[in-house]
Amino acid sequence: MNDSLISRRRLLQSALTGLAAVPAAALVAREAAAAPVLISEDDPAAKALAYLHDVKKVDAAANPTYKKGQICANCIQYTAGAGGEGTCNMFPGKLVKAQGWCKVWVQKPGTTL
Ligand code: SF4
Repeated sequence: MNDSLISRRRLLQSALTGLAAVPAAALVAREAAAAPVLISEDDPAAKALAYLHDVKKVDAAANPTYKKGQICANCIQYTAGAGGEGTCNMFPGKLVKAQGWCKVWVQKPGTTL
């Protein structure tokens, strides 16, 4: 085996390694772009459901369906994520706070208030 054959082999290996890295980098970038973000309380969808990040701020008089102990974390629509936030089926692509609340809260089976 001569030097030119070895260097051609190394060049080919480097090229293949580089090609393999490109789709992985693109996938990571797409995942980051699609990562859900915390919904704003000013979002029209959040306002329509009277969503608040902090259940302590719920006006019980204005929201007669609210009962103490109801929070996103024990709502059937909630799937826990990281950092006290999770996804909600009512707000696709957005995160809500585990300690949040909105007026379509429904108790998750197996939870207690
Ligand atoms: S539907 Fe449930 S999880 Fe979603 S915002 Fe309302 S209370 Fe929270």
